[in-house]
Amino acid sequence: MSSREARQWRRSCGRRSGIHHVRPLSGPASRLAELRLIASRRIASLTRSFDDIVTAAADGATDDEHDPEGHTTAWERQQIAALLTAANAKLAEIAEAEARLAEGLYGRCAACELEISRARLEALPATTRCKACAAANIKRHD
Ligand SMILES: [Zn+2]
Repeated sequence: MSSREARQWRRSCGRRSGIHHVRPLSGPASRLAELRLIASRRIASLTRSFDDIVTAAADGATDDEHDPEGHTTAWERQQIAALLTAANAKLAEIAEAEARLAEGLYGRCAACELEISRARLEALPATTRCKACAAANIKRHD
């Protein structure tokens, strides 16, 4: 949030309630909250899909061996499981970024402690490492 937005927020908040002690969400906090919501919804939706496939398979509604429509339920389960793993990893990353924000360490690389570039934080608000450190660890895609 820019300082101008923050002023506007305080003004509108003050007008509504007359209370000024509530701090506005700072930029990264609201962005991380938004990302957390998106990730949580994605996990819920993927979990539902996974359960649907399992239920359908148990009901005999789909047939692994003879489904002419293509993918087997086992394959679909694997795909959704992989997406769920990625979504959970994303959520964990967001939680880590929120923890660092609470500690006042947000925007600082968790590995080398140098400042993470503003452009990188804009693109990846949940990242906890600078570009160089993230690139050095090819297992993580941020
Ligand atoms: Zn670093």
